[in-house]
Amino acid sequence: MLNILRDEIHRNAIEHGWWDEERSFGDILSLCHSELSEALEEHRNGHLPTEVYFSNEEKPEGIPVELADCIIRVLDYCGHEGIDIAQAVITKHEFNKTRPYRHGGKKL
Ligand SMILES: [Mg+2]
Repeated sequence: MLNILRDEIHRNAIEHGWWDEERSFGDILSLCHSELSEALEEHRNGHLPTEVYFSNEEKPEGIPVELADCIIRVLDYCGHEGIDIAQAVITKHEFNKTRPYRHGGKKL
């Protein structure tokens, strides 16, 4: 399911010209960070975590949308590189289930 979404998102990004020129891994990670910063700005502007609203030209906005933008960028990159992100998520989740409570006392 996640890899199907990955392929659909990556196909759309190609069709919209986002892969006409190669971007560095650093650029891509920075763009992911920028979406999380946009989510923070939505929070700072008082929007609730579940609130989706529409601005000019019916563009969706809000914390859920910015989180989605970050996920879309990650999945697009995974599509570009052929990363099996579905298996990576399952592998890491299964490992996380074996870890100690708060990973041995971490605060955050
Ligand atoms: Mg955004």
